[in-house]
Amino acid sequence: MESYATFCKPQLTRALISLGLNITYHRAAGNFLYYKDENDKEIPVLDLLGGYGATLLGHNSPFIREKIKRYLDEETPVHNQFSIKKPAALLAERLNELLKEETGTHSDFIFCFASTGAESIEIALKSAEFTRNAQLEELGQEAISAIAKISGGKEIVLTGEQRQDLQLEENASAEEIKLALSAFTQNRLDTKPTFLALENSFHGKTMITANCTYGAMYRHYLRRMKIDTHFLSSEELNEFAGMGEKANDVFNSWLWLPQEENNQIILTKKPFRVVTAFLVEPIQGEGGVYPLNTGQIGEINRLKQVLGCPVIADEVQSGSGRCGFLVASSDVGLDADYYVLSKALGAGYVKIGVVAIRQESFTPGFDVIQSSTFGEDDLSCRIAHDFVNFLHADQRHLLKKVTQLGEEFKTQLNALQEQYPDVIREVRGKGLIWGMEFHDVTHSDSYILQNIAVQGSLGYVISGHLLCGSHIRVAPSGSAANVIRVEPSVFLEIEQIHRFVEALSKVCLAIRHADAGFIIAPMLGKKDLTISTDHRRVESPQHDDDKEADYKVAFINHLISASGLREVDPSFGIFSDEELTLFVESSTFNLATKPFKAARIRSGNGKSVEFTLYPLTVTSKMIKKSLEKNDLGRLRHEIDVRITQAASDGNVAVGLGMFTSIITNNGKSLKNPPISVTTGNALTVGIGIEALQKSIADRDIANMRIAIVGGAGNIGSVYAEILGSQFQEMILIGSSNHGSLKKLDTVKYHIYKNIYEQFLVNRMPVTGGLAKRIADCLSTMPIDYLIGKANVGVEIDHYLNQHYPTQTFIHTSQNISDIEDCDVIVCASNASEAFLSVEKIKNRAIVCDISVPHNLSDEDVLKRPDIKILRGGIVQTPNNDSLDARVRAYLKEGQIYACMAETVLLGLEEYKGNFSYGNITADQVIDIMTIARKHHFTLSDIKENSSL
Ligand code: PMP
Repeated sequence: MESYATFCKPQLTRALISLGLNITYHRAAGNFLYYKDENDKEIPVLDLLGGYGATLLGHNSPFIREKIKRYLDEETPVHNQFSIKKPAALLAERLNELLKEETGTHSDFIFCFASTGAESIEIALKSAEFTRNAQLEELGQEAISAIAKISGGKEIVLTGEQRQDLQLEENASAEEIKLALSAFTQNRLDTKPTFLALENSFHGKTMITANCTYGAMYRHYLRRMKIDTHFLSSEELNEFAGMGEKANDVFNSWLWLPQEENNQIILTKKPFRVVTAFLVEPIQGEGGVYPLNTGQIGEINRLKQVLGCPVIADEVQSGSGRCGFLVASSDVGLDADYYVLSKALGAGYVKIGVVAIRQESFTPGFDVIQSSTFGEDDLSCRIAHDFVNFLHADQRHLLKKVTQLGEEFKTQLNALQEQYPDVIREVRGKGLIWGMEFHDVTHSDSYILQNIAVQGSLGYVISGHLLCGSHIRVAPSGSAANVIRVEPSVFLEIEQIHRFVEALSKVCLAIRHADAGFIIAPMLGKKDLTISTDHRRVESPQHDDDKEADYKVAFINHLISASGLREVDPSFGIFSDEELTLFVESSTFNLATKPFKAARIRSGNGKSVEFTLYPLTVTSKMIKKSLEKNDLGRLRHEIDVRITQAASDGNVAVGLGMFTSIITNNGKSLKNPPISVTTGNALTVGIGIEALQKSIADRDIANMRIAIVGGAGNIGSVYAEILGSQFQEMILIGSSNHGSLKKLDTVKYHIYKNIYEQFLVNRMPVTGGLAKRIADCLSTMPIDYLIGKANVGVEIDHYLNQHYPTQTFIHTSQNISDIEDCDVIVCASNASEAFLSVEKIKNRAIVCDISVPHNLSDEDVLKRPDIKILRGGIVQTPNNDSLDARVRAYLKEGQIYACMAETVLLGLEEYKGNFSYGNITADQVIDIMTIARKHHFTLSDIKENSSL
């Protein structure tokens, strides 16, 4: 259903896909939702999520359906606004009776009707503020008339505190006092109202309710509205409730009210309420399923008394039978002034919300200003009424059943928790709302689980596993991703609870075993796994010196291919390349990863560096695709995020590994990096050149042809500049992209200019190869030939073409077949996969393939034992320090990539500023090679093809 992503939920659909939750249900009945699989077979899914609490009677309850059919046949009016609504009245009457009975109170309620939970909460808050406003207006009037009574005839006695509050001088006149008091009063009465709520609360996602919802993601972006909600922690609740009247000083306010006493006018404090209401869910649902305990309930009741504010019991989720009562407040003794019901009240069919307002808290007139098009509609009210009656029929039979089933859940889930105390932190709930909180897996031996923890998606991943693997539907709490929440129907069968607990116990075992593969497998279509394998690491994680490293450096890497995940997390060894690719490609909704401590790397001079990877879990191929589409914003952002994190983790330098240098335009797209940045390109080139030179030391280089594939690129061009002129001839090969030839020519001109300046202007000694050939040819050039010419390189090219037309010096090409006659081929292209065909390569040629991934595949290399392959750019660490085996990729013990080594060296040198940043120069290559030598970082063994 692509249009859902296109037109409804572009981002969220990506998350659903990554979790295997991208299913379209076409039918729902009882405890099941049904979808059709790829063979059009109907698959039943046991629904324990239950519409986030809305389907207490299950889906499409037959009992209610029969009623609805009748109401439709009777042509029940839906839109008969502004008339006397009988079904609304009957529902209100019934709810009034039940609420009074259940809460053991005598006063009646007034009911407001709405369509959703959040709308109902808004109405409750609005009504509370309506009442507060009426009280403040009355107080304002009282104050105005008291102030008006002040006259010059009576002595006005003000204390120092009062003068200060009113900003009055000692000898202020009566008129001045009156003015100051009026302004003070108005100012105080205009104080913004405060809402009280609890930590972990959830009250909806409309403007005000979102601001009363604890989860920061729901309200942070609304902070400029400056809605004043105070979220009380358990400790604060306890503290404020224990303060008695003093709590008013924290939350409420007061006026100075003039009054006559002994023929003098004095000012007395008149308190008034700033707190509009105290919102309370007796069982917090979205926030992580936290039933309030009796201590907390007592504290809320006390604080309400002191502050004089109404308590709004948000029973949107906990009420309507969910906890075995019409309102869960009644069972725990919450003394509420408002009860808000919604969700299950609609019997799984209609959208209805109801606000029950105690008569004492209701201010007449509110009913006139409050209405909504759909509120009080006859159809919804009749259905809700049937639902309420159904719950209470046969001496509250269904409500009792809720409690019984709840006991079964409690027993079974607690037993599971006892079996896996290392996995399940706590089981909480009541009636038919239960939450299982999982321990944080940030320190699991599975790197995938660690990342799942960092992304706050453990509960979502478990939900995906249960859905794809066991056809059980659950979801985590919106604000507590480690809590799996279940809210089944009252018709759930005991056997179905067993089925759920059994599936969950397998998940627990897999988490204990650090077996992320087992958990992810069903989402990748692998459904045959029945038991998890223990992947806990037995060896000590990594030799970590006792003392801290002298410096910390960071390195941003990415997956060369998805198959690399098998090493990173051995539990992923069960997956094929295709499955891993599917996993990586569908996991882009959240790219947060945990830093990976890869190595302690020591300099030959004694200092050491802690080298940490900040991985980007995308493959070279995916990055290449983004490059082609010029869609780099997201990846660049992720790189910026990692650099900021690396800086705050105390790293002094950060290396941009592999394609991350390319997508950041060699670092230039980064947004004000706070630490040294390098692409590592200078050392990559330096070490690569050294490797090549070493391996051709016994050949006559001055008579050889060299091809540089990717010769217009940053690395290829410097190779060409430093190395090319020692060869007889050089071919710079570029991609087929438009403009590539032009770039190659620019490199060529630059080299010509260099040769001219070094050997003809500065008279440096020439040994052989291109440099000598060109220098010899240019020596015939008239002395003033280049004078006044803007581009020396271009002019030299002209000159050589004109005067030596039969000779080839530097040739530029977009044809990869031109490597055919070359003795040495340097591969420095940024292709996302191997593309060089081995048949084209000359007999006994040397290929220096510094591209990652390689341009020449390992399989191809094996076909040609005659050619010598150099995987340039690999550095030997001075003390044979290695990366953690899980992230070594092509590297062996004691080896690191040159770009990594450059980052390490910048750390060791305490280098300030960026190093290889933007295009590198030959001088930088020479400088970093000097630094490398100083710290004893050397070229690693040159790899022959046989050793690859
Ligand atoms: N209050 C509570 C306690 C809720 O659980 C919810 C919904 N999860 C709401 C309010 C908001 O209800 P709605 O989604 O119908 O707006």
